[in-house]
Amino acid sequence: MIQISALPAFTDNYIWLLQDHRTQRCAVVDPGDAAPVQAWLAAHPGWVLSDILITHHHHDHVGGVEQLKNATDAKVYGPASENIPARDVALKDNDRINVLGWEFEVYAVPGHTLGHIAFYHHGLLFCGDTLFAAGCGRLFEGTPEQMHTSLTRLASLPEDTLVYCTHEYTLSNLKFAIAVEPNNPDTAERLEKVTAQRAAAIMTLPSTLALEKLTNPFLRVHETSVKEKVDERNGTRNLGPSAVFAALRAWKDKF
Ligand code: ZN
Ligand code: FE
Repeated sequence: MIQISALPAFTDNYIWLLQDHRTQRCAVVDPGDAAPVQAWLAAHPGWVLSDILITHHHHDHVGGVEQLKNATDAKVYGPASENIPARDVALKDNDRINVLGWEFEVYAVPGHTLGHIAFYHHGLLFCGDTLFAAGCGRLFEGTPEQMHTSLTRLASLPEDTLVYCTHEYTLSNLKFAIAVEPNNPDTAERLEKVTAQRAAAIMTLPSTLALEKLTNPFLRVHETSVKEKVDERNGTRNLGPSAVFAALRAWKDKF
């Protein structure tokens, strides 16, 4: 049994910590800062950091890697096509890796960056800055088509998959989601819940794919309500899903 918890970093990042209680080995995902991880290790004697998983090259995801690598014997996994500090294992689409005795599948999910990858193990998805709770990452390197394809792929995983993304953006994402779908009761309910959670400084993650499909406008580009809203704003008609996605992403960039 592996326990997953969040080590907060910077203003809104979560470094996911995976603990294997049988072996007292642990792994982290996207340690943008070494300090929270080293503080945790110092507070938990006997635990060994054995693996570091990296989704993409942005500093808030890799900034702590070298310091952790120097302080531990951890193995660093990251995308083959990006420049990842101290990377030991270069990963590409459909690779499989063993971490803490669990097999993770690697998915290429270009869009936020071109080499962005996600890690999936039966019901658990670590997706970096690709799929967010109620939103998705900005398109720094990829095209809307690429991101739409990547999100569609993630959305095809089992509905009960837990979504561990990197940022606490859920509340601001939901404010956009309700602007897109003012009559979506699931979005309204989630906005109310998340507003209360954030007022109490409670983490809103992980999400589930089932909830994302009900409330995340970027996974709902086939829905009439979303298409009509985009048409109304842009004066378009009958756009395909990828074009609806592009319009939504452009709107969100300025929202
Ligand atoms: Zn990023
Ligand atoms: Fe990020």
